[in-house]
Amino acid sequence: RLNPPGDSSFLEDGSTENLARKVADHYSKRTNQTLEEREASPIIHLKKLNNWIKSVLIQLYARRGDAVLDLACGKGGDLIKWDKAKVGYYVGVDIAEGSIEDCRTRYNGDADQNPRRKRFTFPARLICGDCYEVHLDKVLEDDAPFDICSCQFALHYSWSTEARARRALANVSALLRPGGTFIGTMPDANVIIKKLREAEGLSFGNSVYWICFDEEYAQKRFKSSSPYGIKYKFHLEDAVDCPEWIVPFHVFKSLAEEYDLELVFVKNSHEFVAEYLKKPEFAELMRRLGALGDGNLDHSTLSQDEWEVAYLYLSFVLRKRGQLDNN
Ligand code: SAM
Repeated sequence: RLNPPGDSSFLEDGSTENLARKVADHYSKRTNQTLEEREASPIIHLKKLNNWIKSVLIQLYARRGDAVLDLACGKGGDLIKWDKAKVGYYVGVDIAEGSIEDCRTRYNGDADQNPRRKRFTFPARLICGDCYEVHLDKVLEDDAPFDICSCQFALHYSWSTEARARRALANVSALLRPGGTFIGTMPDANVIIKKLREAEGLSFGNSVYWICFDEEYAQKRFKSSSPYGIKYKFHLEDAVDCPEWIVPFHVFKSLAEEYDLELVFVKNSHEFVAEYLKKPEFAELMRRLGALGDGNLDHSTLSQDEWEVAYLYLSFVLRKRGQLDNN
């Protein structure tokens, strides 16, 4: 089992701006791995499982020719998934300069190393910026409206303050067309709080992750009425090491409704896997990705500890109110 550090050094400067910078710096520093490094990762099967979940969401909701807005797009790990869905246009925004650079390299392809690599079929625009601070509706005025917006493993970084959480949803709502879809994945607050209640202290985890709440924030969770700014530190081997925020789903759902975004579904990753693995086309995709060995949960190559990390996340789908324009 991994242990969190004894001190709470990540609280040194807790200003919102500074924390957003910390998150950006953390992701900026993570360089692209070689294929060998990736395969040797202690969480390789979890990464493959998460890729499968994102692929299923994209295959279920993206349509040929769609204009896509990928908030917190990272290094562009989903570009291929969007290409397979034959989307028509892609805009990716991320706060981490290093990640946007990697995303650009991935999109342009490395012509020297692999001149035969197929180019992506859709035009793309990649922007470095804070999706939870910037009025993206102004920046992307000429690109909107989008048919689908995606925010994968990143929306919880908006929950540090109410203003940022609102800006995130206001941006999505302003940029989606009526009837457009918002898909995403983020930590499942119910699971995290349940684990915190069961933990002896303020931290819990296993051999691949730990979560550590600071005393101040643990108190806040139980006493304060504010559902924003409930901070913890998340460490995931070979992936994440930065401050994150609890997103109570019922608050997220009602806040989203204020911005005309209605919940279509929410599912914990365990439930998501159980449901979509029943569909032959997604079971086949799982087999190809190799996340679960032969594609069967009973004969899984995913370790118990990785499976426990999967349980910390949920997937959601929201729809922007209004008529779907079929033209
Ligand atoms: N969505 C990508 C994926 O699924 O591969 C990346 C996920 S990574 C776990 C989280 C991403 O959120 C990082 O690339 C990070 O830079 C980005 N991020 C965090 N806070 C952000 C913000 N305020 N604005 C834009 N991007 C942000």
